[in-house]
Amino acid sequence: MSNFPVDKIRSDFPILAQQVYKRPLIYFDNAASTQKPRQVIDAIRHYYEYDNCNIHRGVHYLSVKATEAYEEVRRDVREFVNAKSTREIIFTKGATESLNLVACSFGRRYVQPGDEVITTIMEHHSNFVPWQQMCFERGAKFRVAGINAAGELDVDGLKAQVNEKTRLIALTHVSNVLGTINPIREIIAFAHAHNVPVLIDGAQGVSHLPVDVQELDCDFYCFSGHKMYAPMGIGVLYGKEALLEELPPYQMGGEMIKDVFVDHTTFNELPFKFEAGTPNVEGVMGLGAAIRYLKNIGMENIAAYEADLLKYATVKMSEIEGIRMIGTAKHKASLVSFLLGKIHPYDAGTIIDKLGIAVRTGHHCAMPLIELLQIPGTVRASFAFYNTEAEIDQLVAAILRVKKMFE
Ligand code: PMP
Repeated sequence: MSNFPVDKIRSDFPILAQQVYKRPLIYFDNAASTQKPRQVIDAIRHYYEYDNCNIHRGVHYLSVKATEAYEEVRRDVREFVNAKSTREIIFTKGATESLNLVACSFGRRYVQPGDEVITTIMEHHSNFVPWQQMCFERGAKFRVAGINAAGELDVDGLKAQVNEKTRLIALTHVSNVLGTINPIREIIAFAHAHNVPVLIDGAQGVSHLPVDVQELDCDFYCFSGHKMYAPMGIGVLYGKEALLEELPPYQMGGEMIKDVFVDHTTFNELPFKFEAGTPNVEGVMGLGAAIRYLKNIGMENIAAYEADLLKYATVKMSEIEGIRMIGTAKHKASLVSFLLGKIHPYDAGTIIDKLGIAVRTGHHCAMPLIELLQIPGTVRASFAFYNTEAEIDQLVAAILRVKKMFE
């Protein structure tokens, strides 16, 4: 941990240098959205100053240049998650759009009345509601795997739900409420032994852990740029080529067609079949810069540094009397959810904010989980590689202050 260049890294993030309420900003809301390094901001600026143009459909200089830059980032993303081909990398608005795309297209193609789809109780709404609604529409059964007291997935329970009617398992890599890292490799291997494809919601995975989709052998992997230091409004759907080939397009319009006649239309090849309309080119430029930034530091180094931060926070916070940690899985990503006695998370979060520390409170878009736990929500502090132990000490002091105010 000592040789991790956190000071140098912090100087790359202009927003972290500011004061809020006359105190240095401490940003612990990284699971909601991460801050952006200057390199990402510069890439967007550079794009508008030198390359801006609609892509894929022009013969002129700028259009060719912008198209080449856009496709270069697709190659970077392919390499970042180790996909086999750039045809398997689809740019979307974010994880939510990626998940809706698969739920909609996969549902239409493969899910019949009486079929079943399995997800888990720890999913974000965006990997829960699309499957639930698709199952309602198609007369399929929506099954939900549970968790144990530590917030770990009931893997045996999930496996027991797999049968010949199961069409797909959709689960998160990392829980945005509990921090739990799910044993996705084991679940994918089991599912494949039963001919069931697996979709992984990687929104909280890809920014913390090295991801190799070929090694995982997942069928789909979805993520958002803004949670991995890139801009908002850009995300990725990875899908195995053979599966994507079989899926119908999700949106219709320009770019996704090959030929259009009055009586029928033929569709473009992958990945363009799933990229209807003018894409978010500036977002893609920012995503490319974010990937280069992460690669420079190294995902292994990031994972190791954040694991140390989590360990430090867990030890320090567990010492606070009356704190209840929500999510104590053995394998966790760098976030802590907690409750302080009977103090409402919103009240705690508001006071912590006034001390210059950004935490998130509420149900974190995971209402089925919050209901299962019978809690009003949690306070969540989620760490990035620009956070420090000294900042965690400040959080502990803020929590003690909250407790004192309510005593
Ligand atoms: N899945 C998980 C686990 C998340 O944490 C989030 C964002 N909080 C999403 C999906 C949705 O991501 P986005 O809002 O960027 O589409």
